[in-house]
Amino acid sequence: MKKFIVCNWKMNGSLDYIQTLNNYFVKLAPSSLAHEIVICPQSPYLKSCKDTLPSWIHIAGQDCNTKEMGAFTGCIAAYTLKECGATFCLIGHSERRGYFQESLEEINEKIKCAQDACLTPIVCVGEALDHRENFTHKDIIKEQVISALKILKGDYYIAYEPIWAIGTGRSASLFDIEEMCSFIQDMTGLSNVFYGGSVTPSNASEILKLTCVRGLLVGGACLKLETFSPLVERKES
Ligand code: PEP
Repeated sequence: MKKFIVCNWKMNGSLDYIQTLNNYFVKLAPSSLAHEIVICPQSPYLKSCKDTLPSWIHIAGQDCNTKEMGAFTGCIAAYTLKECGATFCLIGHSERRGYFQESLEEINEKIKCAQDACLTPIVCVGEALDHRENFTHKDIIKEQVISALKILKGDYYIAYEPIWAIGTGRSASLFDIEEMCSFIQDMTGLSNVFYGGSVTPSNASEILKLTCVRGLLVGGACLKLETFSPLVERKES
């Protein structure tokens, strides 16, 4: 079963970088790529990613609105993401839950809009450091996953991203990743759990060897070709 490398560009990326990636992909034999690749650019770059990159690269939105369409200036509808080439959509990233105070209800409204637009949701869940220090991390993850499972149907993925590991250079240990991804997998009953949080070329292969990890959600390391390419290329063993 192929695993996924999901690249969350956040508020980064450029038309130049899309071209750099394309130049890289066209020189590679598809057989040298080990994983399914999903690129989550800022929304204005979706169409350019879709039109420029090889068709086997999946494109994703980073978020969608809670409403199908209408008078919501500045917001992006799930159907627009779809129309611009996305087939996946991140939902409930901890930066959205944190900076934009997204509630569990709003996240479920977004999941519904994404599914109605035929986008595959990648629902991000994660605990803060104090939850882990108070040993309540499993409770918070369970609450987030069980809430999302009320609305999720068909194809979907859950990305376990401890907030203290995102962008900090401090990845969770293999023990913690295995414990939490198995915990989530037991709730979904599917092999559909990703890990995210300070993934780099040096720790990616070990994490991907865990059977409960279906893929990686990567932020910083996918923003430069030097760190992106070792994540996606097949390693000789
Ligand atoms: C993320 O953006 O979800 C993420 C995991 O970022 P980073 O890889 O930089 O920690």
